[in-house]
Amino acid sequence: MFDEKSILNTIENGILIVDPDLKIIFWNRWLALQTGISRQEAEGRLLSDLFPETGFNLLKRKVKIALKLGSSTFTSSSVEKYIIPIKLQQITKSTFNHMRQEVVISPLSEERASIIIYDNTALLEAKAVIDENLQIMEKQATTDTLTGCYNRKMFNDLLSAEVKKADRHSKIFSLIIFDIDNFKSVNDTYGHLAGDDVLIEIGGLTKAIIRQSDYFARWGGEEFAVLLPETTLQGAALLAEKIRAGIMSHRFAEIGNLTCSFGVAQFVPDEAKDTLISNADWALYHAKNNGKNQVAVFENSEIRTWYRPDSH
Ligand code: GH3
Ligand code: MG
Ligand code: MG
Repeated sequence: MFDEKSILNTIENGILIVDPDLKIIFWNRWLALQTGISRQEAEGRLLSDLFPETGFNLLKRKVKIALKLGSSTFTSSSVEKYIIPIKLQQITKSTFNHMRQEVVISPLSEERASIIIYDNTALLEAKAVIDENLQIMEKQATTDTLTGCYNRKMFNDLLSAEVKKADRHSKIFSLIIFDIDNFKSVNDTYGHLAGDDVLIEIGGLTKAIIRQSDYFARWGGEEFAVLLPETTLQGAALLAEKIRAGIMSHRFAEIGNLTCSFGVAQFVPDEAKDTLISNADWALYHAKNNGKNQVAVFENSEIRTWYRPDSH
């Protein structure tokens, strides 16, 4: 014959029996192996004496509830890092130092509850890896790999959201589109890789000039776009000019100086997103045709030059 306790000792989960103060009545073999605390050492002592650094307030509360209600309660490592501190013996890929646990607390009598501990570490580690990969994938789906700014798809989504906000809450916003001047000759003269470096540098220069609340994207090959929430045409044109001057005064390694042309438009309520884009595009086209290295704005169905270096 065998007694029930010997069965509990064969189970590959932690099982302990406690009173309402978490005094240990029974401590199974799995717990002894995992904690290095033998049954003889554990039984008759308070859980908090075995692990003085751990506050067992949550567990104590759960035990009291289980005893009071006469039904099982449940807690897991998502609530508290661990229920019983068991140091992980092998270094795992995750940053977990302690075993993650799921715990079921069941009343056995008025003054006794069993606590069953399941090792949840592998599951949570897998979840952490999946979460991390999801984050990476999300970033890849929204980011331009060369420059690290938003890609065109993400920028389109941001634009749509801004149009909705503008229509619903009468918010204003503006759009800048800019394009590197004579970029083809940079590639032709210095090579495609040097051209790529220019794109990265212009991305960095622009990021440093725009505000936190602005959205910045690589719109196409050597074209960029900035979405400026709550900004008038004048505000956007001023910022475009700041970016223009910043890029113009920058020395690109090996290549020297470069310029960009800018088109700016403010969203007109109830117009389509594509209309705003084509208005900014039209202004950019004007800036290019008018001699490049300048800012042109679309205003009241007309294009005008906002700033040209030699116009002052
Ligand atoms: P403009 O002043 O009228 O804008 O002339 P441009 O030479 O800049 O314009 P064009 O449209 O003739 O050439 C654009 C060039 O941009 C051609 C293309 O090879 C280059 N380009 C587009 N994407 C990339 C990229 O990712 N890397 C590099 N290095 N070059 C690119
Ligand atoms: Mg160009
Ligand atoms: Mg272009």
